[in-house]
Formats: sequence, C-alpha cells, structure tokens
Amino acid sequence: MRSERPRPRSSTAHIRRFRLRSLLAGTAAALLVAPFAIPAFADTGEPDAVPVIRTLEGAQTVTIDAGASIGAIAREQFSVTTPPPPKPVLPSAPRGYTSTAETFTNNPDSAVQWPFTQGVPISDGFGYRNAPCAGCSSLHQGLDMNPGAGTPIQIIADGVVAEVGNPSGELGVYAIVDHAIDGQRVSSLYAHMLSGSLRVQVGDQVKVTDIVGQVGNTGMSTGAHLHFGILIDGVAVDPFPFMKAKVGS
Ligand SMILES: [Zn+2]
Repeated sequence: MRSERPRPRSSTAHIRRFRLRSLLAGTAAALLVAPFAIPAFADTGEPDAVPVIRTLEGAQTVTIDAGASIGAIAREQFSVTTPPPPKPVLPSAPRGYTSTAETFTNNPDSAVQWPFTQGVPISDGFGYRNAPCAGCSSLHQGLDMNPGAGTPIQIIADGVVAEVGNPSGELGVYAIVDHAIDGQRVSSLYAHMLSGSLRVQVGDQVKVTDIVGQVGNTGMSTGAHLHFGILIDGVAVDPFPFMKAKVGS
C-alpha cells in the first residue's frame, strides 16, 4: 500500500530559488543584489520584498510582471480607502414643535416676542401649587411651556445676558437676560434647557428672537419643558399677562 508522503515544503522554494539564481546569474548587476533580494522573495513573498524586487526591473529577470501588478493593486487600494469628506454633525440639532396650542400668538414684528414662534401648551402657570417633585418649588414663579424637547427658545427682547449656568443646579441649564422695556428693568429667565444647547455667555448683547438654547429637562424638572420667568426690578411676576400685554396677542 502506497503511503502519500507530504511533499517537503522546502522543495518548491528550493526550486524557485534555484531558477531565480539561474536567471539572475546572467548579469553582473543582478549578482550584486542577489544575496539579499532572492531570500526576501522566495521565502516569504511578503510586501517588504516588493521594494527590493522593483529595483530589479531594469535587469533581465522575471520580476517585472509582479512589480507591475503590485503597483496596480496599490492604486486600487488607494482609491477604495480614500475616506469620504466628513459630514458636519450638530451636537443637538434643533427639532420642530411636537406640540402646539392656541395659548398665545406671537407677533414677529413686535419689540417684545414670546419665547416660541407659535402658541404652545402651558402645563403650569404662575402661583402656589402642589410641588410636582421633591425639591420643586411650591410657589411657581413662572410658566411651564411644552413645545417638545429640543425646540429652539428665542429671547423675548433686545438686552444683555446677565447670568448663565449650571446644569447641576435647580434651574438646570439656564440664562437670565436683562432688558429695558417701556422704561422698566425687566429680566427674562429661561430654565431647564437641553444640555449643550446654551448659545449665549454673560455680557452678550442679544436681540429679540436670538436663540438662547433649546427645550430640555435639566435641573429640578420632571419632563422636557421651558420654565419661563419674568422679573420686574428683581421681583417675579406672572409672565402670562405681562407677555400678552407687551406682545399684544
Ligand atoms: Zn416651572
């Protein structure tokens, strides 16, 4: 019974090495490079052999085809792996209004405007209430407005940013803007904004309808909403009748 012996692995390489030696022996130039060029090609065929082989292209050898095909592969790989230009990614893209209501109508021509361009639900008004969460105020000094998470919030009048902060505090991410409205010192407060959405810094001169941030759920808050406050000479007042009177609708 004939047993199949595995073919000695070294024989092919040995033959190939021998043939290459024969071919290369024809020129003196090939002999000069043979001591390092041939082992690199015959033993491994790894890419590090390529630069050595390609130096032999001017000589009479069998390596010209191999060098040409490697060059073609390298070009293909270059075109395939060229990365596409990166797309700009906004950290928190403004989203549309997911909820509207006929609570008010903004007037885009007024010097004072609502913080939203259209009427939105108001879930909690100004005044005493049962605190909706541990740590939430029972004297609610503002309006809770609910257009949906991510909705852009516009500043209600020209002014100067007086205060911003602090995602870990009670108001979450907030801003206070000082205005002079009809001879009164009025401040507007925008609270619980989306993390990373704040667009102003203290001292910024801002214009009516500039975006201050986006509706979020930071701080002492039980759902995405804008807590919107109005202070006159530092005293909180009910924003709803104030805004109705100033905007006119
Ligand atoms: Zn509130």
